[in-house]
Amino acid sequence: TKLFSVSGHVNRPGNYEVPLGTPFATLLEMAGGVRRGRKLKACIPGGSSAPVVPAAAMMDCTMDYDSISKAGSMLGSGAVIVMDETTCMVKALERLSFFYYEESCGQCTPCREGTSWLYKVVHRIEHGHGRPDDLDLLSSVTSNIMGRTICALGDAASMPVQSFIKHFRDEFAYHIEHRKCLVPVELQRAGSGFFKASV
Ligand code: SF4
Repeated sequence: TKLFSVSGHVNRPGNYEVPLGTPFATLLEMAGGVRRGRKLKACIPGGSSAPVVPAAAMMDCTMDYDSISKAGSMLGSGAVIVMDETTCMVKALERLSFFYYEESCGQCTPCREGTSWLYKVVHRIEHGHGRPDDLDLLSSVTSNIMGRTICALGDAASMPVQSFIKHFRDEFAYHIEHRKCLVPVELQRAGSGFFKASV
């Protein structure tokens, strides 16, 4: 068995011990399903550093190392973060990037400088000041962090950025072009928590 700590937009967040290979859909059901019957948008299956997986791919996963790996992510710590359709993915990444920026101990340059860049660039996109080349800039910064740091925090900070842009590029591009969120206003207003979209 493995313990999964299910948090985010579920009706019964908590710790669930299930056999490896349990379908994600079953784990989600154990956690009471997506709150208020909303649609699942995405899930981070293995803690905040694990690459995000879009809903459709996640619903096909079983909770084991191979299946999550095939979906492009990691089982990691088993900290499952569920995000429903009210989630602004730019806001979510801003929050995650801020965490790694704050956690960097500053010992090595790629992490110390890079986590700062990642947070600041995502922050300006979220707040309507994104620039046309910001997504390429973010990719470039992550490439210059990955594998070049003393501990794993550099990689941990980079993987969310790479995966959010890979799977939700349209949402980031919309923010940059229109200086506002792609998530419909009525859904934004219904959202809550760290990943609530800015109205
Ligand atoms: S990678 Fe690790 S050691 Fe290097 S600055 Fe970041 S937290 Fe410190």
